[in-house]
Amino acid sequence: FAAHRARAETLLARLKAEGIGHHIAGKRVASDSGKTFTTTSPIDRSVLAEVARGDAADIDKAAQAAAKAFKSWRNLDPDKRRAILHKVADVIEAHADDIALLECVDTGQAHRFMAKAAVRGAENFRFFADRAPQARDGLSLPTKDHWNVTTRVPIGPVGVITPWNTPFMLSTWKIAPALAAGCTVVHKPAEWSPVTADLLPRLLAEAGVPEGVLNTVHGFGEDAGKALTQHPAIKAIGFVGESSTGSAIMAQGSATLKRVHFELGGKNPVIVFDDADLDRALDAAIFMIYSLNGERCTSSSRLLVQEGIAAEFSARIAERVRALKVGHPLDPSTEIGPLIHERHYSKVCSYFDIAREDGATIAAGGKPFAGPGGGFYVEPTLVTGATNAMRVAQEEIFGPYLTVVPFKDEQEAIAIANDVNYGLTGYVWTRDMERALRVADELEAGMIWLNSENVRHLPTPFGGMKSSGIGRDGGDYSFDFYMETKNICLAK
Ligand code: NAD
Repeated sequence: FAAHRARAETLLARLKAEGIGHHIAGKRVASDSGKTFTTTSPIDRSVLAEVARGDAADIDKAAQAAAKAFKSWRNLDPDKRRAILHKVADVIEAHADDIALLECVDTGQAHRFMAKAAVRGAENFRFFADRAPQARDGLSLPTKDHWNVTTRVPIGPVGVITPWNTPFMLSTWKIAPALAAGCTVVHKPAEWSPVTADLLPRLLAEAGVPEGVLNTVHGFGEDAGKALTQHPAIKAIGFVGESSTGSAIMAQGSATLKRVHFELGGKNPVIVFDDADLDRALDAAIFMIYSLNGERCTSSSRLLVQEGIAAEFSARIAERVRALKVGHPLDPSTEIGPLIHERHYSKVCSYFDIAREDGATIAAGGKPFAGPGGGFYVEPTLVTGATNAMRVAQEEIFGPYLTVVPFKDEQEAIAIANDVNYGLTGYVWTRDMERALRVADELEAGMIWLNSENVRHLPTPFGGMKSSGIGRDGGDYSFDFYMETKNICLAK
């Protein structure tokens, strides 16, 4: 803890002195307007840095820089692109410890999780780097009179808009495939967590990524974000964030016919049948909602438990929840840190009363927590006695907050699981594999884990149904979004 603190202090002193600027065409610049905003730490509300506040003029410069850099990046020998992106992964690995520390202070998420998230950022680059040489591959579809050859070409400069939860990992998850496909990027990071987004273009430059290939414009959604989605030079928007923001982006991008890819909110069920390995199910249920402060799109925020075991299973969960360690995010023993921002903290806290008013029971937690630094801490919370119609079972709370809803049988479990607007993930625990597969087939969600918690294998498709998203990321799915498919027909 002491070592983490000392290193973080050094990094923060540098950050405060330098401030956070945009990165456009290889240069770190202020906003044209000269405007800035202040970013603070959720641990103690201390000022971390003044951040350039971008608007349409800054977005225009960044989009022009991305357009200018596009042709040579697109035409670069893919083996060279592969080598450069591997170098990016090396550089990220070399800075992973600092990235993790900065991310903890910026977002409030516990070091034990953020250390892994920084390394995963490097993996994202390595994974897509290896696929760069095959990105343009297509099919041969001959007829008796013609040769047909399909190929893919990068779509052009693209916009990437990211949220504040695990900001470094998520940014790399969107930006790495875009660059591997041969696109150039304008990135608009979340205004509540701009710190590591300031680092990323510098790391890319250190690895030899040419200027203009990644441009970053900081600022708010309603000005910088909106301008990016409306810019005619930007051919597609990869967006991760709230469902309502996805709707706004779709409307904003309609005039320029933007291609969109949305990774949005969730209200994901973990379904536990009475024949499950209950010890493993318990560990997974705890991990999937109380890690990363519950500020995670794939978190299982609804626990559907079969009636016969509901009381005992809920009691065991409550006991574990009460034992979770809330504390300073840089302390290696901390499991839950402060929530990202005062507004989000107020939102999560409002669900303590909402649960009570709706007639549910707070079985554990249910209060703000007086943590070190006086920041936005809450007690990890478990709500029982809920029905699926209650707001705590329907709305994305996005905190360490789990709602238990009992069910009678398989059909009722499926009906409850699907009775929400969202459809990102589902988790099923049972020893009956036929039932597991039947339930998986019926669940309205893009990703299902059977007898396991969320483990990612990067070639597999990642994305949601219903209000949880449009499109899939991962493996070749990412390239399909960042590339146009073209058919070339030649008479025999
Ligand atoms: P948000 O939608 O408020 O903001 C996300 C980004 O969009 C920010 O950079 C913001 O500035 C920008 N933005 C806001 N309004 C905009 C507009 N009109 N035009 C263009 N850009 C705009 O989301 P958040 O609160 O930062 O993040 C939390 C949400 O993200 C949760 O709902 C969570 O489930 C979701 N999320 C989903 C996934 C997934 O993979 N499905 C992953 C992580 C987070």
